Amino acid sequence: MTAEFFREEPTARSSWRLAVLMGANSRTYKFALGEALLGAAAEGRTDIPLRDLARPYAMSLVEHLAQAPQASSRSVTGGTDFLTVAQEEAAESVRLGSPTEKLLAAAMKSMPEMVMQKFHNLRGHGGAEIPHRFYEVTGSSRERVVKLTEHLREVALSEQRPTLQAELAARWSIVETSFAAGVGRSLVEEGVAVDLETLRITDKERRRSVSGVTEAVIGFQHGRCIICAQPLIPGVDEIAVDHVFPYSFKRLLSGTDVDLDAIWNLAPAHRPCNGQKSNQSPSQGQLTRLAMRNEAIMQSPHPLKRTLQLTLKRHGYSGGRVGEWWDLIKEVRSRLQ
Ligand SMILES: [Zn+2]
Repeated sequence: MTAEFFREEPTARSSWRLAVLMGANSRTYKFALGEALLGAAAEGRTDIPLRDLARPYAMSLVEHLAQAPQASSRSVTGGTDFLTVAQEEAAESVRLGSPTEKLLAAAMKSMPEMVMQKFHNLRGHGGAEIPHRFYEVTGSSRERVVKLTEHLREVALSEQRPTLQAELAARWSIVETSFAAGVGRSLVEEGVAVDLETLRITDKERRRSVSGVTEAVIGFQHGRCIICAQPLIPGVDEIAVDHVFPYSFKRLLSGTDVDLDAIWNLAPAHRPCNGQKSNQSPSQGQLTRLAMRNEAIMQSPHPLKRTLQLTLKRHGYSGGRVGEWWDLIKEVRSRLQ
């Protein structure tokens, strides 16, 4: 099914999304690496000394560590673990505004051994890799150089870069929140809630904001408007969150338990497209895109997947079979006719 997501748009950008949005995470290293890679490639660089990549990598981990845990509570961290070093060096690094020598050395040692080996792996596909490679580690162990590929530059220099940055940050926030004691458990078991006033995803335990709805789901619809299928560029386009089955249909559904205010039915769109659509029923194209978007979210680990799973289960589906979103969406549409 991740193959399906790639086939919809077989580009380096989709490979990037497979790596960032759909990988399993027991730590957040992949997000820090992704951020550092995008930054370097956006400057048009073709290669970069590992040391220069390790700097932003280590700093963003240190900054995130101050806000939330960066490893699942189930994963054990030892004294030589990179996160342990990051924790110890955090205060001094933040004071300096750059990583301490000890932190930098630990990052340079652990990156090629761990996260840089895993970044291209496709979760749950028996060692399979995403279709594009974004870098190669070259050089000797004394002086490692990271060669950035044409594919990475294509991703980093595309008009969708702001979207990719925002969705990476959202995924990072969602994952680290799921690592937090107490909240994590509720997120993994009950999924997320949506605050319609602020259009933010919240955890059900504390009702605290985790990320924006748009940033959390836009990558799964390839950064495109659910209504016209053209790219949605933050900072350029005005973005609205569309109720694909309009809110006004609620009264037609009274007596049923279909919740139109939940993630499954909410999708970013251009504000003008959203205004034009108003209360009309969604077109076949919109419903197809919604079904594909939801199927793609089902390939991403908890808690967004969990949220959609619970919706499916409430309507009598297994919550695990590929294609169930097509069936549920058809069912909702038939109830409205
Ligand atoms: Zn549009």
